[in-house]
Amino acid sequence: RKVIFSGIQPTGIPHLGNYLGALKQWKHLQDTASPDTKLIYCIVDLHAITVPRERGLLTQNKREMLAALLAIGLDPTRSTIFHQSSVPAHSELQWILSCTASTGYLSRMTQWKSKLQSQSPSDTATTTTTTSHPALKHGLFSYPILQAADILLHRATHVPVGDDQRQHLEFARECVTNFNHTYAASVFAPPSTILSPARRVMSLRDPTQKMSKSDPNPASAIFITDDADTVRKKIKHAVTDSENAVGYDPEGRKGVANLLEMVGHLTGQSAEEIAGDMKGMGLGALKGRVVEVVEGELGPIRERYAEVVGREGYLREVAEVGGARARESAEETMRLVREATELGGEC
Ligand code: ATP
Ligand code: MG
Repeated sequence: RKVIFSGIQPTGIPHLGNYLGALKQWKHLQDTASPDTKLIYCIVDLHAITVPRERGLLTQNKREMLAALLAIGLDPTRSTIFHQSSVPAHSELQWILSCTASTGYLSRMTQWKSKLQSQSPSDTATTTTTTSHPALKHGLFSYPILQAADILLHRATHVPVGDDQRQHLEFARECVTNFNHTYAASVFAPPSTILSPARRVMSLRDPTQKMSKSDPNPASAIFITDDADTVRKKIKHAVTDSENAVGYDPEGRKGVANLLEMVGHLTGQSAEEIAGDMKGMGLGALKGRVVEVVEGELGPIRERYAEVVGREGYLREVAEVGGARARESAEETMRLVREATELGGEC
């Protein structure tokens, strides 16, 4: 049976990178999947607490993320949508997987290094990012094991993510091998990665960095709830280069390439085609085109978001129903895991 699973951290309002790299694909899979395909989309709050935040913010972020997922068109009667912490088996399986996961492999992964660096950019010790760094918490380091547990708990066959998560999916497959080998079992099968064409949308302030919810500068990202005027201002100030003519050069002109790719992902054309169509035009014209297509896509989403975010009772109900369904899905797997590991059996 095909099982599609993916997650997003409640660390802020989703941006165009989340939307094009993951969420749009989630909705597309929902709308095109055969009726017996299981679709599970998780708001990963346990992952969100791997980085510090202000008190009270997580509750708000979780509610806003749920509203955002409904606003992009996820249907809670078709897709299971839930908060990760409402299914304790995510943490339980994380522990079990961690007992066969390699710290050497984890220490080579890039996400904890970049998150650590962004937490304390002026700290020279972080530039070496060793695992003995005093600010490195174990949760941030073992994040990929929890992510592997998320995926394997629902025995996902396909995981739609952005390019930055490719390494973690590779690690999840390693966890499958380690577990099955250690317990001489075939409880898990390796999940496949689904990459959307928009693999990595870049920051509007620094086109060498990916657009991120956790970037402290809100001008670096277009959020799906930004109004038309905010989108226009952010695009107008997007960092490009001094050559004032449209041209597609993904290595030499990263800022311009990012804008052309955005248009391409929203119109279904290639970035080269758009550059061809706009030959001889200036960057002002390109930016105008970006504003137009972004508004066309995000305008209706923004309206649905405004309508749903205030419906607290409804949001709570969606989360409860999703949580109950996800617990059922998890329990099927945990029965097999407990049997294989001799945990929870008769004594
Ligand atoms: P944070 O900064 O808190 O890590 P994030 O913006 O990286 O937030 P996540 O919740 O970590 O978002 O990731 C959710 C999904 O969005 C993942 O599938 C990830 O690969 C995808 N994604 C995140 N940023 C981008 C981007 N700039 N381009 C394409 N996909 C992205
Ligand atoms: Mg991220």
